[in-house]
Amino acid sequence: MVKEAKLNQGFIPTVEAVYKLIQEFNKLPGIGPKSAQRLTYYLLRAPEEQARLLAEARLSLKQETRLCPICFNVTDSDPCLICGSDQRDRSKICVVEQPQDILALEHTRIYNGLYHVLHGAISPTEGVGVSDVRIKELMNRLQSSSVDEVILATNPNLEGEQTAMYLNKLILPLGIRVTRLARGLPFGTELEYADDVTLTRAIEGRQEF
Ligand SMILES: [Zn+2]
Repeated sequence: MVKEAKLNQGFIPTVEAVYKLIQEFNKLPGIGPKSAQRLTYYLLRAPEEQARLLAEARLSLKQETRLCPICFNVTDSDPCLICGSDQRDRSKICVVEQPQDILALEHTRIYNGLYHVLHGAISPTEGVGVSDVRIKELMNRLQSSSVDEVILATNPNLEGEQTAMYLNKLILPLGIRVTRLARGLPFGTELEYADDVTLTRAIEGRQEF
């Protein structure tokens, strides 16, 4: 609603189709009214083929992807390539909030273990409880595998810290080592936006929780 109000104060296109697409782009994370307008007018000028490819890519994004039944990463294979690989260190699980965090960590090439995607973080203020993220699935995994270290790589912000503390309490009684990424990551940021050097240092410098 706030976003729409902002849009209305700015440029108001007379063509409804244009206005609709601007509104849709404006709903995307990181896209403000100005960028939404720019993208819409870009597509208006772009060759038909390009617009078609974009629409098709968007459709297959949902149709051809699913969540890995083990780690809940986005995948098109069952299990995902990481869970199915015999090159990965199966004694470590790195717990992240979102699938894109895996991309950031994989980009550093420093970590060779497995992952677990929570799909969120506990946030009482936003009504996100323990059962709204994949914590139960993580605990089931830990109980039925030979993992000896869980690396808590939730975001270095309030929700991420709360989630890490909660997980630490749950996991410690299992006799599994729990570590947290080093403090090099600035508080309040999100993992997916951290640069490779900072992330590499954070993984290498991880400490007992
Ligand atoms: Zn997986």
